[in-house]
Amino acid sequence: MENPTKQRRNNLEKYFEVKGPFALLRVAQMKRAWKQSNRRELTWWEKTYIPTVVSGIALTSKHFFRNLGLHILHLFGLYKDIPAAVTYQYPEQPRPLAKRLRTRHRLMKREDGSPRCVACMMCETVCPARCIEITAAEHPDPNIEKYPAEFILDLGKCVYCGFCVEVCPEDAIRMDTGKLDIAAYSRESMIYDKTRLMDG
Ligand code: SF4
Ligand code: SF4
Repeated sequence: MENPTKQRRNNLEKYFEVKGPFALLRVAQMKRAWKQSNRRELTWWEKTYIPTVVSGIALTSKHFFRNLGLHILHLFGLYKDIPAAVTYQYPEQPRPLAKRLRTRHRLMKREDGSPRCVACMMCETVCPARCIEITAAEHPDPNIEKYPAEFILDLGKCVYCGFCVEVCPEDAIRMDTGKLDIAAYSRESMIYDKTRLMDG
């Protein structure tokens, strides 16, 4: 009689013979099935979890003493080029942000405090999440065609892709407020209107 493991392997290897668009998926399925069917039993020593706990403590201690040693050496001006782990006491101590990081939007203002936006609808059109809604109106200044009577941005839907900023011909919308910790108790309060966006 054929060895059951060998029989299972032969059955699984049949997946390789199948040609077609799902061949790679079948190979992945086969590998997973193979791993599951050949998973070895834990020994009694492993079942006590002592080796795993000890190796976890050893790894944590290694990082702890490495960082402690480096911080002490840094105090004496030594090995400053080797960074040691730092814990930021958030929210009292915010983490430094990269300059190119995209954070919450703001609408830029002209010198007179009116929005720089000319309601061209480019951002609304390009937005993949469909979270911008602009109501255009005639601008009283004949040199400016339109302005946004309302500019709604639903941050609950926004994916922070930055397309709206990239596409804007007037540099009227930016994502540089540095505000990341945006939380709300309702979907409605994640909807920002023109006034909120202009306040920065
Ligand atoms: S960042 Fe992307 S998803 Fe968010 S408003 Fe701009 S275009 Fe839309
Ligand atoms: S792309 Fe710029 S100018 Fe055009 S509607 Fe959007 S924010 Fe306003």
